[in-house]
Amino acid sequence: MNPLYETLPTSIFAHMSGLAAEHGAVNLGQGFPDFGWPQDVVESAAQALLNGSNQYAPMTGLPALREAVADHYRQYQGLVVENGDVIVTSGATEALASAIMALVSEGDEVVLFQPLYDAYVPLVRRAGGVPKFVRLTPPDWRITEGALAEAFSERTRLVIFNNPQNPAARVFGEDELRIIADACVRSDVIALSDEVWEHLVFDGRRHVPLASLPGMAERTVKVGSAGKIFSMTGWKIGWIVAPQALALPISKAHQYLTFATAPNLQSAVAYGLGKDTDYFETMRSDFARARDVFLRGLEEAGYAALPVEGTYFVCVDLAASGIGVDDVTFCERAVRECGVAAIPVSAFYDENKVRSVIRLCFAKQPETIEKGLEGLRRAKALMGA
Ligand code: PMP
Ligand code: GLN
Repeated sequence: MNPLYETLPTSIFAHMSGLAAEHGAVNLGQGFPDFGWPQDVVESAAQALLNGSNQYAPMTGLPALREAVADHYRQYQGLVVENGDVIVTSGATEALASAIMALVSEGDEVVLFQPLYDAYVPLVRRAGGVPKFVRLTPPDWRITEGALAEAFSERTRLVIFNNPQNPAARVFGEDELRIIADACVRSDVIALSDEVWEHLVFDGRRHVPLASLPGMAERTVKVGSAGKIFSMTGWKIGWIVAPQALALPISKAHQYLTFATAPNLQSAVAYGLGKDTDYFETMRSDFARARDVFLRGLEEAGYAALPVEGTYFVCVDLAASGIGVDDVTFCERAVRECGVAAIPVSAFYDENKVRSVIRLCFAKQPETIEKGLEGLRRAKALMGA
């Protein structure tokens, strides 16, 4: 067996969802909504299943979806994307895997920001890359020029960046984006920009794609996911958008990972991306409302929540909430003894872990949120000072 996988634990999302099912707990751990998917997009997929092709899609994706992705980013983010710059993948996860396989060689250094999405580091290591971490800390999780400069060397090949950020729920400011862009341009480094949460930004914020910064269009691989945009995480339709020089080698990696992905779901996503602006705005305001209900409940229960600028996650600082146990202990007991599953944020660090913050998913209907809050009140009574 490859030694990397011999020692790798099961993903925290599978672990916590397994425990939630086993103990009948409300699952505020793994990020998935329990409302909000557009019925017309589901119907479009059903029609495509019955009446469309059920054979292999083209390797780089259905032309209709590649065109829809390009149009969508032109309309919402002002990006100039040619259809040929889009490769459809089996979720953002496969997009990340293909990009890392194609862009990282043995000994290349890859700069990553902790906390980080759990797939990045194993993929980088499997490709022979050497992770170099920039550590972000609560409550502000800010990126500074000094910290980035320390992580860069002449061996840096790739920066993996996630904005809006899971789990910190941050939408990085243009000043922070500029720090990354300047470092990439100065050192001739490629950026893999995971922007799956691009439509989930709150309070009037606007998503700024990294590729739109000066000098970045030619060196950015942008990753998106229909799972997030349409609240259907099970669909696993994602994509990369990159200039030809980068898209071509990435398509070579993709062709031997999955080759292609379900044509019916692709055609429904192509339809969905063309929906009225209203859909995207309503989705955002529905999630913002769920966030506000949850934040109010957390505050009433005596929990200290960190700001939520984007994504459908909220981080809670246990120490500031008067809870003395670490994040893993809290989550393990909360799911077994209090009926609520959360994610320990230390799982998003490879080293130098922050151990007093948990992540909760608020993309839930009011009844689910209320049940989750009941569990959290029990957990506070059990583990609070
Ligand atoms: N990147 C980030 C930052 C994510 O949060 C997720 C899923 N939550 C993914 C990638 C994976 O997306 P997909 O389900 O489309 O593979
Ligand atoms: N991305 C989702 C989250 O952050 C989970 C994805 C998964 O389960 N692999 O919760």
